[in-house]
Order: sequence, then C-alpha cells, then structure tokens
Amino acid sequence: MMEIKTMGVVGAGQMGGGIAQVAAASGFSVVMSDIKDEFVQRGKDAISKSLDRFVKKGKLTAEQKDETMGRITGTTDLSMMKNADFVVEAATENESLKLGIFRDLDGICGEEVILSSNTSSISITKIAAATRRPGKVIGMHFMNPVPMMVLVEVIRGLETSDETYNTVEDLAKKLGKTPVPANDFPGFISNRILMPMINEAIYTLFEGVGTPESIDAIMKLGMNHPMGPLTLADLIGLDTCLAIMNVLYEGFGDPKYRPCPLLKKYVDAGFLGRKTGRGFYTYES
Ligand code: NAD
Repeated sequence: MMEIKTMGVVGAGQMGGGIAQVAAASGFSVVMSDIKDEFVQRGKDAISKSLDRFVKKGKLTAEQKDETMGRITGTTDLSMMKNADFVVEAATENESLKLGIFRDLDGICGEEVILSSNTSSISITKIAAATRRPGKVIGMHFMNPVPMMVLVEVIRGLETSDETYNTVEDLAKKLGKTPVPANDFPGFISNRILMPMINEAIYTLFEGVGTPESIDAIMKLGMNHPMGPLTLADLIGLDTCLAIMNVLYEGFGDPKYRPCPLLKKYVDAGFLGRKTGRGFYTYES
C-alpha cells in the first residue's frame, strides 16, 4: 500500500474546498483544481474564512491556520494531479463531466493512484469503467459542510478492490472522519433516503400545504432534524438536488422519484440556494 502524502482535489466549490481544507488541516499537501482562476480563488477564500472561524473559537492557532493554507496549491491545470498520491473528484454533479475528468485523470496519474469521487449519486461502476483501473476507483462521499460532518459514505463499485476500500477507510480515519460502506446503486444509501424526503418537502410547498417556514419548523421540532429540509436543500444547492433526483428517477425508472416541477423551475431561474443568495430563502452575501 503506497503512503499518501499529497491529495489531489478536483473542483474548488463548497465540497472540494471543504475536502481540501480538512486534508490540509490533517497534514496532507493538497493540489486543488478548478476550471477558472476565479473559482480556485473563491475556493481558497472560503477555506480561509472557515479556518478563521476555528481560530476564533480557539480550536486552531493563527499559525496553524497559515500552515494549513500553505499546504494548499490551487491550479486550473488538471495535469498538476500528476503530483497526487490519491485524488478526490468533487466537480459539478454531471455524469458526462465526471466521466471526462476520470478519463483525463487516468492518463495523468500514476497507475497505482486511487481515483475517488465525491459524487452524491452517479454510478461509481460507470465512472470506474471510464478508466483502465476500475479496481482503484471508489466513491468517497463526504457530507456538507465537510469540516463539521463526520460521515464519509464509502461506495464500492462493481470492481473496486478490497485494497482500495481499505486504503480509503484508513484515509477517512486519518481525516478525522467515520467511514461507512455502501454498495453502488443510484443515490447509494444517503441520498436514496435523504433526497426523496427533500423532494417531498418541495412538493408540500408546491401544493400549498405549508410555507417554507412551517415545513422546516415541523421537521425540526417534530422530527428533531437539526435543520428543515428546505434549509438543507438550499445548503446542498438546488442544482445538485435536481441532479440527484434525476439520477434516482432515471436509475430506477420509477415515477416515485420524479423531481418536483418547482425544483426544476428554481434551478431554471438560477435560484440555486445559498451559493447564489437565493433558493427557498434569501441570503445576504
Ligand atoms: P459546487 O457547485 O459548489 O462546486 C463545483 C465546482 O466544480 C465548481 O467550482 C465548478 O467550477 C467545478 N468544476 C466544474 N467542472 C470542473 C472540471 N472539469 N474540473 C474541475 N472543476 C470543475 O458544487 P458542490 O456542492 O461542491 O458539489 C460538488 C460534488 O460534490 C458534486 O458531485 C456533488 O453531488 C457532491 N456533493 C455535494 C454535497 C452538497 O451538499 N453540496 C454533498 C456531498 C456531495
């Protein structure tokens, strides 16, 4: 088993940034890529802000923050992933995009390197088949916000090897996370259960059964959820929610997974939740 010193993170959005932050805070060198300089910079700024909150709480010294930031290299050049001993892909939830990234990574990275995806729902088996190393491809599904949430759902594709699984389990623990296994099926375990609930909450709003505030309050106070489903949808990103529902809908061919028309409409309008300042609620930047 090769020692992992440098982690590659593809995508510098909310998840990629969070994964890069946790990896750097755990002592790994990180190469974080995105498609535009401004996206890389936005990712770095978000990491810096998040670390500031840990400094404020006294959980990190200012010096540790600087050291952590110093371990992260941003780039728009995917070929920089040649320096990584392990890669996590956290780009936009889109199947053809991810297949292209894995095809490219397969050519860039050493053949012993494990390529993992943070996908919420896309088939790990299919992503693996885009490479010549399907035994070394696996799902490493972190939860949002990554620095706060302990779960990593580890998804085995059809050909994922035991060695790959064990390496990822070990790596997740080194990142301070708790790995839990799941098999490869649309939505895996987490989003197979979570996303239909969120979609149903959106239907409840769509049909006028309740306001966003009442829907969220009922699930918070009545079911002891830490946040209501519409607040959570805004946090996840409505584009990501829609993409996951479509994977479930198409993957199972069952109308019970059809995405709510209101969710589609909001995504068409560019209301993507917190990241754009508007979703089911409005947010100040
Ligand atoms: P996001 O929109 O915040 O970030 C996605 C980033 O990927 C963007 O910065 C985009 O520019 C970048 N990107 C697009 N194409 C790229 C490419 N070819 N190379 C490099 N970067 C590229 O989305 P996110 O919420 O961070 O989601 C990323 C992944 O994580 C998705 O697969 C999503 O399903 C998954 N995920 C999301 C959540 C969540 O709560 N948002 C939770 C778990 C997993």
